[in-house]
Amino acid sequence: MQVVAVLIPLGLPGPYDYAVPSDMRLQPGDFVRVPLGPRRVNGVVWGPALGDTPQAKLKSVQNRLDVPPLAAHLRKFIDWVASYVMSPPGLVLRQVMRVPAALEPAKPMTAYRAGPPPERMTAARQRVFDVLAELGAQGLTSADLARQAGVSASVVKTLAEAGHLLAYDLPGHVAFDQPAANAGKTDLSALQKPVAEALTAAVTAQSFSVHLLDGVTGAGKTEVYFEAIAAALESGRQALILLPEISLTAQFLDRFEARFGCQPAMWHSGLGPAERRRTWREVAEDRISVLVGARSALFLPWRDLGVIIVDEEHDGGFKQEDGVIYNARDMAVVRGQFVNCPVILASATPSLESYVNAQQKRYVHHRLPSRHGGAALPDMQLVDMRASPPPRGQWLVPEMVTAVEQAVERGEQALLFLNRRGYAPLTLCRACGHRYACDACDAWMVEHRFRQQLQCHHCGNQRPVPQICDACGEADKLAACGPGVERITEEVIHRFPHARTAILSSDMAGGTAAMRETIQQIAEGAADIIIGTQIVAKGHHFPKLSFVGVVDADLGLGNGDLRAAERTYQLLSQVAGRAGRAAVRGHAMLQTHMPDHPVLQALAAGDRDAFFERETMARQIAAMPPFGRLAALIISARDQQEALNFVRALARQIPPHPEIVVLGPAPAPIARIRDRFRFRFLLKGPKTASMQGFIDQWLAPVKLRGSLRLSVDIDPYSFL
Ligand code: ADP
Ligand code: ZN
Repeated sequence: MQVVAVLIPLGLPGPYDYAVPSDMRLQPGDFVRVPLGPRRVNGVVWGPALGDTPQAKLKSVQNRLDVPPLAAHLRKFIDWVASYVMSPPGLVLRQVMRVPAALEPAKPMTAYRAGPPPERMTAARQRVFDVLAELGAQGLTSADLARQAGVSASVVKTLAEAGHLLAYDLPGHVAFDQPAANAGKTDLSALQKPVAEALTAAVTAQSFSVHLLDGVTGAGKTEVYFEAIAAALESGRQALILLPEISLTAQFLDRFEARFGCQPAMWHSGLGPAERRRTWREVAEDRISVLVGARSALFLPWRDLGVIIVDEEHDGGFKQEDGVIYNARDMAVVRGQFVNCPVILASATPSLESYVNAQQKRYVHHRLPSRHGGAALPDMQLVDMRASPPPRGQWLVPEMVTAVEQAVERGEQALLFLNRRGYAPLTLCRACGHRYACDACDAWMVEHRFRQQLQCHHCGNQRPVPQICDACGEADKLAACGPGVERITEEVIHRFPHARTAILSSDMAGGTAAMRETIQQIAEGAADIIIGTQIVAKGHHFPKLSFVGVVDADLGLGNGDLRAAERTYQLLSQVAGRAGRAAVRGHAMLQTHMPDHPVLQALAAGDRDAFFERETMARQIAAMPPFGRLAALIISARDQQEALNFVRALARQIPPHPEIVVLGPAPAPIARIRDRFRFRFLLKGPKTASMQGFIDQWLAPVKLRGSLRLSVDIDPYSFL
């Protein structure tokens, strides 16, 4: 009797043995359906029997699923990730098996195309037709259509019943358009060409290597890595591009199409269930050659990757902070190693980790030091807010207002950047001093004036903006404290009543679709002044933008976490880099209370490498990453005493170790989120120490009872 170990995508300690019926042949990687207690679940044959289940107790595999088996390199990757991030392997496998429908035989589905438009065209109906117009001949299922248009299912149904949408059967598999390596070649500059050649050679060599593509914004990094993709296409292998904020990159997709003749396949949280199923399946069957995706695309069942590209590799969005906690940039490098393909990390402001790896020659360092076509980088000017304060109740200093005015007068665009959503971060009663806090979190409620709500940014709690004070009942005494982007917008509208303004923030009405449209309109010049959060920092190309004003350059510097300086530098130079990407000369102005701060000085001097060198040295002296290692334990419980007792007991059990230091327990900086009380331990050790081994030893005897939860964060990015 054949017995195999099957890994099930649940938080179990490991695979379980199952008997294989005599008429079934199974190989490692096969998808199977197996009994688990009273249930039937899908799993993957992980390898030969473990032999830890007595024969009499063995259950049998029910059937094999008609899905291509998981490649050996992906199974090894899953095991590796599980042991690195200290997660049960089944939960890592679950990242791969996120789309249960993809494991089932394709059901025939009905899709809809646009038909004759109705006479009565409501805004909702118009959105349905807009979505379909964008897709051309290709249609969508009713569920996907309703979701993408942001309308209820009944809108689609009514239109279909009245013959305004035309139904047709979606075949079991609809192929994606195939990008062509040479559909629209770019003539690379003399600086770009050798870099592209090196990357192309690495792809052609079909072996593992890591490349840091390090070039200022506008240098042509995208054009250059497109050549690596072309090389992968030519060798018949797949290319994966990971991007942060994937859903916002219409401009990127258009550029891709110009170069390769069609849009790439996509993978992100905004995909509907049918698209998700189709995409997973097409990847599994090796019929997708290029895909652009968010971090989870790394866990798609790729068969034969030729190159992995991580664009904006420094971006914190690559770190997944819940469930399986991993950094997709780091795991992309590991994946490349198992697959044996090159990995390209691209950024204008690399993470210190990657920068040091390049300095130490573990990564190949490719530099593109100037903008394509000779456009100059924006000059950066610091304004000392202590010397030149804004008028009372306002946030923009006179110099800033003048600069915006001049840009608008020249017919160019100005961008004001403030990394804070909403209207004001705090609401206070001037009569009694009451401050509005979240009931469930240790956090202030943020006013969103456009929506007339107070909202907690940690748990999403909302309430209408109160008219009278909760505490003292006084009317008209509530004051908004501090600015968010909405408040800056108000000031701009007041000062520039004739300018066209646009606001870009992740909580705009209309969601992603509206945001994408706004970005497109800004690029086409439909706004004079743009006010935005960090969303504006990411890769958009606004040809008419010549001025960037940073409303509060100090915002990220105060929190004292390991990467505060690095992140602020990255974010602000990224934002400033939006200015002057085309013909117009860019200019950036930063409002600060600490113009002597080394980060701001480095930004003003435009001396990135000097900043990196100093930051590198500081980390080295402190034995902090990337020269040392960190890990965090986060413990939470519904009851504060319960959490406290537990962390005290944990503290008594810290195993002795010559090199690893345990700091804490300490209440987390946000000590309560969603009504859970939170404590942290921070572990620090040299690069050579096994954090995982140490944590394993420490936590082996630990049992979690009651409402206690514990999570391990290896290489933490967030210290909240
Ligand atoms: P990065 O990714 O480094 O910010 P991009 O690849 O987006 O730079 O290039 C910036 C702009 O310059 C884009 O509009 C791009 O099309 C253009 N560009 C870059 N290189 C070339 C080239 N060799 N020929 C023509 N246009 C180029
Ligand atoms: Zn809250």
